[in-house]
Amino acid sequence: MRGRITKGIAGFYYVYVPHHGMYECKAKGIFRKNHLKPLVGDLVEVTVLDETLKLGNMIEVYERKNQLLRPTVANVDYALLIFSLVSPQPNLNLIDRLMIRYEMQKLPILLCFSKCDLVSEEEQKILKNIYQNCGSQLFFISAKESIGIEELRAALDGYTTTVAGPSGVGKSTLINLLQEQVVMETGNISQKIDRGKHTTRHSELIYVDDRTYIMDTPGFSSLELPDMEKEELKQYYYEFEAFEPECRFRECQHMQEPDCAVKAALLEGKISKERYDNYSQLYEELKKRRRY
Ligand code: GDP
Ligand code: ZN
Repeated sequence: MRGRITKGIAGFYYVYVPHHGMYECKAKGIFRKNHLKPLVGDLVEVTVLDETLKLGNMIEVYERKNQLLRPTVANVDYALLIFSLVSPQPNLNLIDRLMIRYEMQKLPILLCFSKCDLVSEEEQKILKNIYQNCGSQLFFISAKESIGIEELRAALDGYTTTVAGPSGVGKSTLINLLQEQVVMETGNISQKIDRGKHTTRHSELIYVDDRTYIMDTPGFSSLELPDMEKEELKQYYYEFEAFEPECRFRECQHMQEPDCAVKAALLEGKISKERYDNYSQLYEELKKRRRY
């Protein structure tokens, strides 16, 4: 049977097999076969040792599509980045840092602004304008008033998504909401996580349905840029791309160079000031960074 590793604790792996349920497995012989250390998110072949006790053996790890770090998880399709419109206020610099981190790992990003029940349409519009050309799909949601949830659910359907964002933005509330239906439909509470208790969490793939999983990551309030050259930074600002061919210098970094088409677009309001400001801040930061 083919299953998905949802959690690994002390040599035991919890493998979910659609229509059969969760099996507690050990990895027998896998290491010798293709030298893959099983990861949360891996698709694996399971043989059942005891159906009543739900015990099994993992005999093979299937090839991975990708593998993310911090938390380590395999076969991820999307990164869902959540920031609240208010309490806490979105830190736009942090948004860019987080986007860069996941784009570097080649993950398409869903950028989600939460708690939209707490702010006016105008305030939402401001953020919409800043990020509308950033290359990521945007969502404005309220878990409290069920706004935008079905749209988001549809985007996640059939995929494995890693969820990240600062503490307090409503990640747990949203994940619980996405799971709610499952729990009601299947009566399977064992997969529902008690998120009220803030104990040390093992990274765990959360089951939404047989084809849909979510990986929660711990909240944070600051983030180092990944190791990169300052010249690489511009490639993460998707909205620059359309203007770059018109810059006088091919290697233009859109900072102090003359005849820079990106800065011209900025002055004309075709590139958002907030995005450009964060670009130049991060560029300076990379420039100062001591390289070994
Ligand atoms: P996490 O730290 O990102 O997991 O955030 P939580 O899910 O624990 O939520 C933090 C606080 O925001 C809690 O008091 C929630 O009740 C509140 N919250 C979450 N979603 C919403 C929302 O859509 N609207 C409003 N007004 N509050 C929300
Ligand atoms: Zn330029």
